[in-house]
Amino acid sequence: MDSPPKIPVSWLARYIYCPRQLFLEVVEGVKVAEDSHMVKGTILHDILETVFNSDRALLIKVTQAMIKPEYETLFRDKYLDKAAEVITRSLPRLRKVGLSPAQVLEPNIWLLGEMAVRRAMQVFTFARTFGVYSTELVERIFPKFQTSVFLESEKLRLKGEIDLIERYQDAVVPVELKSSSAPTSGVWPSDQIQLAAYLMLLGESERVEKGFVDYLASQKRVQVELNPFLEQEVWRVRDEIIEMIEKRKVPGAGERKNRCRDCGLNGVCFGKSTS
Ligand code: SF4
Repeated sequence: MDSPPKIPVSWLARYIYCPRQLFLEVVEGVKVAEDSHMVKGTILHDILETVFNSDRALLIKVTQAMIKPEYETLFRDKYLDKAAEVITRSLPRLRKVGLSPAQVLEPNIWLLGEMAVRRAMQVFTFARTFGVYSTELVERIFPKFQTSVFLESEKLRLKGEIDLIERYQDAVVPVELKSSSAPTSGVWPSDQIQLAAYLMLLGESERVEKGFVDYLASQKRVQVELNPFLEQEVWRVRDEIIEMIEKRKVPGAGERKNRCRDCGLNGVCFGKSTS
């Protein structure tokens, strides 16, 4: 007998954001056209994934003779190169929404520079403390980065791809990257449930206690710790999604909320633009 289909973790977050939007897209197959905001977010995401994936190639270049500013230059130049590479690859998508490459690169130069300096200092301190360079540095340094890690579980009936796993000597830490700003305190409910689900999935094979949401627009890393209440919430939302799909229960549009103003489906829900 076939096992029941698994629910993508991203659907939990989308359900929390707007159940009707998830229903219209997943059950009814209504397509939302990508807007410039979505394209900017996805490209930033791709840039960061490419940057983290270049870590090993950069560490191999670290030599004993290098001084501190050279570490910073090495990382900053590579991060900007990688960003330019991703943006060039994305030109057709940019054109579709009327964005120029500069409109994507310029707002992120500062962020990439900060990240490069932070990683350069981590690497410099580690290399000098332990006297390891190049391939030996690659083998020994922490944290190590793993990007886009696919996780699934028959038992949890969930599947999904976590953005980043940081591996330290004594801890495994899942991280979700968000191009948006952080709320004034904690994390957005949709981000919390998404990370909680990844913690549960990862927890099936590893000892994991907490994860983080990195809000890139506000340069803020916020911790999420798994607890029984949060686990219950994951079950509840997962079961509601399964019921919504199986019974084709269409959630109502309710009142127009702020989120409806920018939603590509507001014409479907309200018949005309809310903006
Ligand atoms: S317009 Fe509002 S209610 Fe309709 S799908 Fe979009 S966010 Fe949901």
